[in-house]
Amino acid sequence: MRYLFSILDRIEAALANSPVFLFLDYDGTVTPIRKKPALGRISNRSKKLLAELSRLPRCKLAIISGRSLKSVRKMVGLSGIIYSGNHGLEMQGPGIRFKSPVLKKHKTIIRHLRRRLVAKLYPIKGVLIENKGLSLSVHYRLVEAKDRPLVKTLFGQITLPYVRRKQMSIKPGKMVLEAFPPVEWNKGKAVQWLLRNAAGKFRHAWLPVYIGDDVTDEDAFRILKKQGLSIYVGKPGKSCASYYVRNTDEVCKFLSLIAKLGERHSK
Ligand SMILES: [Mg+2]
Repeated sequence: MRYLFSILDRIEAALANSPVFLFLDYDGTVTPIRKKPALGRISNRSKKLLAELSRLPRCKLAIISGRSLKSVRKMVGLSGIIYSGNHGLEMQGPGIRFKSPVLKKHKTIIRHLRRRLVAKLYPIKGVLIENKGLSLSVHYRLVEAKDRPLVKTLFGQITLPYVRRKQMSIKPGKMVLEAFPPVEWNKGKAVQWLLRNAAGKFRHAWLPVYIGDDVTDEDAFRILKKQGLSIYVGKPGKSCASYYVRNTDEVCKFLSLIAKLGERHSK
């Protein structure tokens, strides 16, 4: 894994030669992680930058988030770009509407599971349970460190029967535990789907660039290993991305560079 800015000339050459299909995770990538998901609204600076990128003829932009589609659209608040919510289970954008064929009964199962989790976990201070329609998140960022193992244990115990019945699968993330429908779908599959179905006029020419910071972004990094740029946000090490940047500020710096190169090309 290499530091992206240490080989910038090579990256610049690649970016200048191809139109860029940019896939961005949201929390921890476009915007720093906040204590509560509801506080993670985009900064004006990043919003302007994304708007600029979305107007470039040789750039396509998709936000790939674990949030619900509704929530990520609200947080970013731009029209004319692709939004992918619930790790790709639902996607929407210009000419695109995708909803994974998750059975309606899953919403009922999630509501049922939520009730059980609320009863057991809400007595622990700081737990936040979020029903995202097609999936459910238990956030424990605000839980005291000493209580976190208990949250994980209880979550494991309560979800186990659902997992055994193949009604749910579990995704751990950064300070979050997620119950997900038992479908073979993830951010990597979502990226593949978009490259096939939202490619438009540059069909085979796109250089896919994926930037993300969490465990769930690894599926996308794996997909892009051979055909694009995969960029991890954070300390290098565990990720299978090819490059890394240190933080969301550096993501911004890199996005500005893509915007500048794209601007030059469209003149
Ligand atoms: Mg993230």
